[in-house]
Amino acid sequence: MNITDTMAGRDLEALRAAIAGQVFIPGQAGYDQARQGRNLAVDTRPAVVVAAGSAADVAQAVRYARAHDMRIAPQGTGHGAPPLEPLDGAMLLRTTRMRRVDIDSAARTARAEAGAVWQDVTDPAAEHGLAALAGSSPTVGVAGYTLGGGIGWLARRYGLAANSVTAAELITPRGDLVRADAGHESDLFWAIRGGGGSVGVLTALEMRLYPVGELYAGALFFPVARTAEVLHAWRAWTGTVPDEVTSLAHLLRFPPLPELPEPLRGRAFAILEAACLGDADTGAELIGPLRRLSPELDTFAMTPAPALGQLNMDPPQPTPSEGDGAFLAGFPAAAIDALVAVVGPDADTPLSSVEVRHLGGALARPAAAGGAQPSIDASYLLFAVGATPTPDLISAVRAHAQAVKHALAPWHASYDSYNFKQTPGPASAVLPSASYRRLQEIKAAYDPDQVIISGHPVRPIRP
Ligand SMILES: Cc1cc2nc3c(=O)[nH]c(=O)nc-3n(C[C@H](O)[C@H](O)[C@H](O)COP(=O)(O)OP(=O)(O)OC[C@H]3O[C@@H](n4cnc5c(N)ncnc54)[C@H](O)[C@@H]3O)c2cc1C
Repeated sequence: MNITDTMAGRDLEALRAAIAGQVFIPGQAGYDQARQGRNLAVDTRPAVVVAAGSAADVAQAVRYARAHDMRIAPQGTGHGAPPLEPLDGAMLLRTTRMRRVDIDSAARTARAEAGAVWQDVTDPAAEHGLAALAGSSPTVGVAGYTLGGGIGWLARRYGLAANSVTAAELITPRGDLVRADAGHESDLFWAIRGGGGSVGVLTALEMRLYPVGELYAGALFFPVARTAEVLHAWRAWTGTVPDEVTSLAHLLRFPPLPELPEPLRGRAFAILEAACLGDADTGAELIGPLRRLSPELDTFAMTPAPALGQLNMDPPQPTPSEGDGAFLAGFPAAAIDALVAVVGPDADTPLSSVEVRHLGGALARPAAAGGAQPSIDASYLLFAVGATPTPDLISAVRAHAQAVKHALAPWHASYDSYNFKQTPGPASAVLPSASYRRLQEIKAAYDPDQVIISGHPVRPIRP
């Protein structure tokens, strides 16, 4: 085995012996696979990767890292890795194997271990006629998504996923297992609900589920040449819909892959996607004004809640990609025109997907006893992304994503989206300022040495 200088003398065998999971160091078989997250464009080289099998493993790994002066980057899927700082000299602490999910149908709650992805929750919840506040992709991790807020298909009705968390189990940076809920560890409980993962390593989350078995959902596909007309109509329609409707406008350029169905392969579309709580008649009436635009393809139907994970057509397999997002205070006609100019039918862009999501509703109202993101002070959300299958594409895709964000700069909200900001930046850029200040104090109390590395870092400050 090739023990690198970084780990030499660090008593790795003691860590291996202490945990049920696995430990990998550079040069060792399995290291490259263990450090690889679902965004294949991210190439971090931590000094050690611990693939934890249990909360006890996480505690051992944290204590080991502390004893050996290493910083710790907790990670589940690695979907959220793009904003991470380089992990040189650090421990990548992966919870990927910890995917147990328990549903309490009577209490309408789920407990998910920190490595669970949304599909691990939505499928068993649906067996009880219940739905979780999952996002657009079934492969995104419950932990990272919820720590960053979590804006899903039921968001305008039920709010951020973070504000439906009822308890968190985590290992503090000192290596202690604690349970944070409404009655215990109130600062930690507040911080993990939207403030990111900077105050400890989550081992499990408990969350409320909602009585949603099926809902009326689908997508209307329009040729990309109609983008401007479709976006203007959708924007006007979003001003009329109740909180039961969560929707987005999606410019999607499908690659010319043989596995794609012929009507989509290699073509570009302006797509309107929506999830409407309620029955088919109510849903059809709500979607009516969009249908009257005569889409080329219409997939709206009563849909089981877990199938919402396919609605946005996010890539199901690990993919290299670059992108960025922003909260928008508004999306008026001038913003639509600016967007169409950079990614519309006449634009030469390597971005495969540009979305504008409608926010508001429950997201805009402060959640009762909510966490670090009590509400979202923005009306829409922008997210632009492109695949980077070869390294030479990275700079062009990155530049185009920034160009899209820049084109909508006059409409940016006062802070960015925690989950959709894909570039490095402090948590102060992705949280309301009062929340960031409180988070700094909590960080000072629990992690003054900044041992935990999080996507958007928090600088500790004593009150
Ligand atoms: C295809 C796709 C679709 C998406 N759709 C949505 C959407 O609909 N709504 C939305 O809000 N967001 C969405 N996102 C953004 C997503 O929520 C973020 O990228 C999120 O960070 C991913 O969480 P993860 O656990 O999968 O990723 P990870 O990379 O595993 O985690 C991201 C970060 O979370 C923290 N973290 C993870 N696990 C732990 C832990 N156990 N303890 C402490 N900290 C931890 C760490 O800081 C880590 O760097 C989407 C992303 C993708 C790629």
